[in-house]
Amino acid sequence: MATLSNAFSASSDSTAIIVPGSPALTVSYKRLSADIYAFQQKLARLGVAPASAVSIALPNSYPFIVAFLAASWQRAIAAPLNPAYKQSEFEFYIDDLKSAVVLVPRGQGDGPAVKAAKKYKAAVAECYWDGQEVVLDVKDEGKLKGNGNKMVETAQPGDVALVLHTSGTTGRPKAVPLSHKNLARTMNNIVRTYQLTPQDRTMLVMPLFHVHGLLAGFLAPLLSGGSVIVPPKFSASEFWRDFNEHKANWYTAVPTIHQILLKSPLPSPMPKIRFIRSCSSPLSPKVFHELEKTFEAPVLEAYAMTEAAHQMTSNPLPPAQRKPGSVGLGQGVEVKILDQDGKEVAQGKEAEICIRGENVTAGYLNNPEANKSSFTAEGFFRTGDQGKKDEDGYVIITGRIKELINKGGEKISPIELDNTLMQNPKVSEAVSFAIPDDMYGQEVAVAVVLKEGQKLGSEELKSWMAERVAKFKLPKKVYFTNVMPKTATGKIQRRMVAEAMSKQDS
Ligand code: ATP
Ligand code: MG
Repeated sequence: MATLSNAFSASSDSTAIIVPGSPALTVSYKRLSADIYAFQQKLARLGVAPASAVSIALPNSYPFIVAFLAASWQRAIAAPLNPAYKQSEFEFYIDDLKSAVVLVPRGQGDGPAVKAAKKYKAAVAECYWDGQEVVLDVKDEGKLKGNGNKMVETAQPGDVALVLHTSGTTGRPKAVPLSHKNLARTMNNIVRTYQLTPQDRTMLVMPLFHVHGLLAGFLAPLLSGGSVIVPPKFSASEFWRDFNEHKANWYTAVPTIHQILLKSPLPSPMPKIRFIRSCSSPLSPKVFHELEKTFEAPVLEAYAMTEAAHQMTSNPLPPAQRKPGSVGLGQGVEVKILDQDGKEVAQGKEAEICIRGENVTAGYLNNPEANKSSFTAEGFFRTGDQGKKDEDGYVIITGRIKELINKGGEKISPIELDNTLMQNPKVSEAVSFAIPDDMYGQEVAVAVVLKEGQKLGSEELKSWMAERVAKFKLPKKVYFTNVMPKTATGKIQRRMVAEAMSKQDS
């Protein structure tokens, strides 16, 4: 495949999409193609031209899938947005991309996405499945007024198909344009890594408005000719019911979701799971082992970022070795550990993880400064993550460069501390971060959620840690909390945790 227009067979009768429900909606590849083409014509009639942005503020659903693919076929830029955003957030993204149209669910009235769209004169259309077709009900033509009857276009490999913003973990979210070629490369890489076939069925639990759900949970399975089960959102109580009813055999998710599943009632019968993929946040070796044991399936941790159109590395399928605590090997992506000057460091030494491949974005939107500092002379992209390679070339992430705890010049990996804390039988979640310190510049702090009914004091925890990590890494401050702040995708943000905990002090 070269573009999303030829990513799958338009004549196949096999099942592409299943939306659980009573009755479930089952869509063949043939039907999906026809629905996308029909929707593309509607977008063209509205006046959506090549290179204009189509913001998709829809939940995971069949209309999202059709609208996303139709926009990309039309050479427009699909820009998925979290439908739960507040008006000011919608305004930021709609203004940043100069959206031509904003797609919202039915019955939005004057909701936050609609208000934001009107402010920037974007067209507004409600988009929903009426049992026969995916409807595009134009509520306001905005700046597209009188622009209709445009041509139905044919996507080209170099066209930008998608713009997503980074999660904003380390600062303001950055807009990342990804071409059909970038997406195609990742889709191929993922299909190859996990040997996806038309027999595979995946449960999509990650939102489609981030690369994780979009690429690994949806587009790659589509390229392989498999089936994707699309519930509107993740629900622990419905997950295994849908999984078994629709005969899923793998899923990909962030560690938070795996942990929720471990704490929820187990499936009965236990399905045969080919593999479980974990990505987007560090998976502690403890949770890795619990998952493998509980669900009797190999757990493959992968490493991804928006700028790379998702996947960069992954642990391989058995019989190849998978290593807990490592994100595995470059998968169709070159991975080097480079120093500040762009020189590769010796094996085992820590420096910045850098990557090169056809999946990587050509550069951020409207951000020349970031573009200059993000690429080396040889065209490697600087991920901002620190890590090393072990003797087999497996990558181990030790932390984000911006989040390393710098205690008087001594760099401490917060991920290493999190993993140590997770081994404590009373601990359910742990996040380590830097706090300002007069003496050292920064000191170590940890926030801990205890398992239900457990008791543990700061001093007790510190002496437990003292047996496991060097003295200089011991936390100066231990916070106990009931909830750990997380992003919409379940990612833990150290910055958010640090802010929340500092409020405990005041
Ligand atoms: P921003 O770039 O705006 O600060 P972000 O980096 O969190 O936000 P994303 O592109 O969603 O935005 O996330 C990519 C980052 O997620 C990676 O650079 C890495 O730090 C982290 N990450 C992804 N997979 C893993 C993993 N398996 N283990 C540890 N960290 C991971
Ligand atoms: Mg980032």
